[in-house]
Formats: sequence, structure tokens, C-alpha cells
Amino acid sequence: MPTRGRCLCGQTSWEYSGDVTWACFCHCDDCRRNCAAPVVGWLGVPIQNFRWTGAAPRTFQSSPPVRRHFCDHCGTPMGFEADHYPGGMHLYAATLEDPADFEPQFHVNWQDKLPWLAMTDDLPKYDGTLLHAPDELRDYDKDVL
Ligand SMILES: [Zn+2]
Ligand SMILES: [Zn+2]
Repeated sequence: MPTRGRCLCGQTSWEYSGDVTWACFCHCDDCRRNCAAPVVGWLGVPIQNFRWTGAAPRTFQSSPPVRRHFCDHCGTPMGFEADHYPGGMHLYAATLEDPADFEPQFHVNWQDKLPWLAMTDDLPKYDGTLLHAPDELRDYDKDVL
């Protein structure tokens, strides 16, 4: 059964089959501002297992290699793709049909965590982007037959 997610108004939605490649928290300023949230929960899935359902999102190219997808009607951030993460679609954990299903595995950009945000989990905490996390955490081909 696919895993599904949706925006605030419900116009834009997605689904993927299979497992996530990774699931993490990002503390970088870009994610924070993009979501107007103190920390952003992300999950990465192989793009071949992913599809948009409902209305197509709009896309904002925040820098040349980065494409941020959001609902054209209500503005909810819905997805992230970048040339430096080939083969993957990054989705926002809070847009899951049931966000309680999110199972975060690690933190990235820990060096930018806001000082007033208390996170008491024992997950690995990496400085720098996902690109600085161990390779095996972000190999979208690892489960592909
Ligand atoms: Zn919407
Ligand atoms: Zn980030």
C-alpha cells in the first residue's frame, strides 16, 4: 500500500511505494525559512517510487540546482529536488497523511540548530548538509532491483 501525503488545502498530494531511503531533521536556515518552522522533518524516497497525485505543485528554483515544490493554492511546501541529490524526491514529514508515522533516523545541519529548540533524542547529529552524512544513508539505489 502506498504512503500518502497532502498539503493544507488538499489540492496537492503525493504518494510513494516502498520504504524511505532516509528520514531526518534538518536545522539549516533555508529549510527553516521555507517552512517558517524551527526545524524541518524530511524523508527521502527514490523518485521512481514517487508520484504526484491531485493537482501538480508549483516549483520555485531557490538556486540553480534546487527545485522546491509547493501547493499552488495554499502554499504548503511539498517537495524538494536538487541536482546534487540525483534520483531522490525529498518530502516533508509534516505533510504525511499521518505525520506520527515519521521515524527520524538522524539530524543534519546540527550546527545551525536554534539555541532555544530542545531536542533530547539520541539520534546521530551531523554538521553540514545531507551530503555530509554517511553515503549509505542517502543511496537511492540501494533497494532498487
Ligand atoms: Zn494546498
Ligand atoms: Zn535544510
